[in-house]
Amino acid sequence: MSKNKEILEEEKNHLANATRVKYFDIVIDHGKGAIITDADGREYIDLLASASATNTGHSHPKVVDAITSQAQKLIQYTPAYFANTVTAKLADRLVDIAPGNFQKQVAFGNSGSDANDAIIKFARGYTGRQYVVSFTGAYHGSTYGSLSISGVSLNMTRKIGPLLPNTVKVPFPDQTQRIAGESDDDFSERLFKQFKLPFETYLPADEVALVIIEPIQGDGGIIKAPQRYVELVYEFTREHGIVFAVDEVNQGLGRTGKMWSIDHFGIVPDLMSVGKSIASGLPLSAVIGRKEIMDSLQAPANVYTTAGNPVTAAAALATLDVIEEENLVARSRQLGELAKAFFESAAKRYAFIGDVRLYGLNGGIDIINDHGEPDNEATNKLIYRIFELGAIMISLRGNTLRFQPPLVIQEEELQRAFEILEKAFSDLASGKIALPKTDNHIGW
Ligand code: PMP
Repeated sequence: MSKNKEILEEEKNHLANATRVKYFDIVIDHGKGAIITDADGREYIDLLASASATNTGHSHPKVVDAITSQAQKLIQYTPAYFANTVTAKLADRLVDIAPGNFQKQVAFGNSGSDANDAIIKFARGYTGRQYVVSFTGAYHGSTYGSLSISGVSLNMTRKIGPLLPNTVKVPFPDQTQRIAGESDDDFSERLFKQFKLPFETYLPADEVALVIIEPIQGDGGIIKAPQRYVELVYEFTREHGIVFAVDEVNQGLGRTGKMWSIDHFGIVPDLMSVGKSIASGLPLSAVIGRKEIMDSLQAPANVYTTAGNPVTAAAALATLDVIEEENLVARSRQLGELAKAFFESAAKRYAFIGDVRLYGLNGGIDIINDHGEPDNEATNKLIYRIFELGAIMISLRGNTLRFQPPLVIQEEELQRAFEILEKAFSDLASGKIALPKTDNHIGW
């Protein structure tokens, strides 16, 4: 039996199904940059880095050094009880790099999910209001709070309700909502009318604490809201004293070719959540935002034993250094252009490639059938073929290829990834791919 199989067999009996989205039968043994190696020594190009929190690639030497030396100095003393040298430094740095020319503060957490919970708490604490408005297609996390405001994980919420009360979802302006030929501005105005519907019927705007948005949705399919739409929603929050927050957990830190996804819109949020790649894979998250909003709550309203842990904070400081020193934001933009050219050319040659969306090294590529409808089976075939050929990719929403390699990926590795994708596309076109018999999922 292969090592992969042996370990998976052993693990199967002990791991709760609710904690693992099963993809391929592999066991990751080690990783370096954009390459991961399984327990049998097979190498793969990682095209899933944003999901696994490694924008700076696997085991970046600078990050490894920072972790090692901090671990030798101090692994943990609860930052909520006593300050330590590194966590304080990181808070300073985050305040500096977050948008906004106003006084800011930071609240550390352990995951993107608890950061979004904290946003709900701060917004409610500050406004004294209860309602939270979020968007269909958004993913904000897996705790009760963040799950309650998510719009993609309805299948997860069966059996575990009731969820957080007083949460309202409005339609995100994705391409499925767009009328053919509609301009960005007309689309924005029409969808904004839908946004306002709850407020015109049952929900007084002055009872709303928070509007939270991923301006470029990640798990929802890599979908950018039109500029005007985000402006209209933002202006609405200004008119009604509502906290405007953005979730940058997936799309932040250079992923979209700008430091933050909200930078594409020229809008400054009141609060934002950061997580995933912030500590290159160690569990750390943060809410960064207006001091007066964060000041509305007192400890222990948002205290976690290991939030802001010094080793994770040292990893985060090194991660931010790497992003700066290696120009990863610009790199994301430049390599993103190559990826865009590749996928757009492929879309011309293969009828099953529909909408192609790339913002930095960050893509959603829809796979469709002859009628232009989502083709989940073809997507699954592609994902498996890509895996067989040596790259790791998953799908979003059933029919969207998710393309998010580490921002440090070498150009040769990227070209190799394009070759693998091209081969998979051509195999699908010539009917050469059979779907393997498995009950594993391929994506969300
Ligand atoms: N927000 C967004 C936008 C995410 O993509 C995710 C994770 N996919 C989360 C929040 C939740 O983060 P975590 O899994 O670290 O709790």
